[in-house]
Amino acid sequence: MDIYFYNTLTKKKEIFKPIHQKEVRIYSCGPTVYKDATIGNMRTNLFQDVLRRVLRYNGYALKHAMNITDVGHLVSDGDEGEDKMLKSAREEKKTPMEIAKHYTKLFFQDLEALNIETPEIVCKATDHIQEMLEYVKKLLENGYAYETSTAIYFDIAKLNQYPILSNVNIEEQKAGARVDVDSEKRSPYDFALWIKAPKNHLMKWDSPWGESYPGWHIECSSMGQKYLGEQFDIHTGGIDLIPTHHENEIAQSKGNCGKIPANYWMHGEYLLIDGGKMSKSLGNVYLIKDLVEKGYDPLVYRLFSYSCHYKNKLNFTWDGMEATAKSLERLKNGYQLHLEGKEEVENDLVEELEEKFHQAINDDLNMPLAMGVVWEVVKQEKKSSKWAELLAKFDTVLGLKIQEPIQKKQEEIPQEILELVERRKEARLNKDWAKSDELRDLIQSKGYEIKDTKEGVEVRKI
Ligand code: AMP
Ligand code: ZN
Repeated sequence: MDIYFYNTLTKKKEIFKPIHQKEVRIYSCGPTVYKDATIGNMRTNLFQDVLRRVLRYNGYALKHAMNITDVGHLVSDGDEGEDKMLKSAREEKKTPMEIAKHYTKLFFQDLEALNIETPEIVCKATDHIQEMLEYVKKLLENGYAYETSTAIYFDIAKLNQYPILSNVNIEEQKAGARVDVDSEKRSPYDFALWIKAPKNHLMKWDSPWGESYPGWHIECSSMGQKYLGEQFDIHTGGIDLIPTHHENEIAQSKGNCGKIPANYWMHGEYLLIDGGKMSKSLGNVYLIKDLVEKGYDPLVYRLFSYSCHYKNKLNFTWDGMEATAKSLERLKNGYQLHLEGKEEVENDLVEELEEKFHQAINDDLNMPLAMGVVWEVVKQEKKSSKWAELLAKFDTVLGLKIQEPIQKKQEEIPQEILELVERRKEARLNKDWAKSDELRDLIQSKGYEIKDTKEGVEVRKI
């Protein structure tokens, strides 16, 4: 069955034709490991994971590379300001290496919690300094770069087209307000390939231009080329990467080998929180561990992400999480009921629904549509293991661990609260209702609520 992807490069939904017959090569821009990954970052990783799984569902083997940025990503994506790693190291009073190690570990823990597969190749920028240097040298040799007193810049005037991916009108912008920090740059849009290090700079390497360090864009170009070749199939990332990072990767690759590195460019849209931006000042920056603390299985967030196409903005709300938690439970229960079912179902109907699901995922990863088919299967009145088998097959794409029992609220209740709950239990045994109510209020004032159910007392964080 044909696969269609929306390609940012051509701005069209296109039929997917891989370079190699049986293997698809993908490059994904990975995290800059200077802070915790948010549920927003994880939405982009979930989209990339679904892409992997859909390609595999279609019979392809994968060669997927993802970088870990541990040097060179400056505070502004346009190569200005301090290195994000160094800023974080200064603020947390640690070395950049310690920062990188710490946040890389947390990043992979989040991937695991969300059942996101680790790409076949994970490559760290600081392990590829030599490859990056060679790449920049070739750009200089080919006449696409020049040296100033502070850096080696890419000369965008040498390209016959820039930008290619985004709709930015460069002439209009040139006349605009953008203030340039480096008067030696030939154009404000020239970007740093390699940056000469100031005296006390912590992360720097020997180079033909003295002690220096790589720019951010060069790492993806050189590692992509090293692991996947000059041209591969798909390049992915968040939508914010289009106008600068990905535009510049294309520029570099054209200067280096005359080719656009990937045939298909796919970008995931942003996650909003309560209809707005996620930001520290609004206090709404949520991590996967915050979901767990509130008692949610991280896979609830995975299912939640399927409520919207990856190219549309997805609005996160706690009500949405609560409703999705119930849906995941219904889905797993539905699977179990089918598994134990012995009723006859027609093969034609099973095939029809399999085909519908396959069409939905092949239509630019249309997960909301695919979930509609999943529910159609779950709700089949005739309970049959054939339906369970089909759901298990769908789950190779969904990644919801449909065969495993639901992870019930995992939050850890502090000892102090557990003791108060015990005292309340005693009070109730003694029919001391006043004491029981008093203890309930006390527990509530400490941020926990209790519910008396048939099975006993349930405690959860408010
Ligand atoms: P940051 O750590 O904020 O630089 O983000 C790293 C990458 O994660 C970005 O380049 C985006 O592609 C992606 N990302 C950040 N915030 C969000 C969000 N709210 N929704 C989806 N993706 C995001
Ligand atoms: Zn990148």
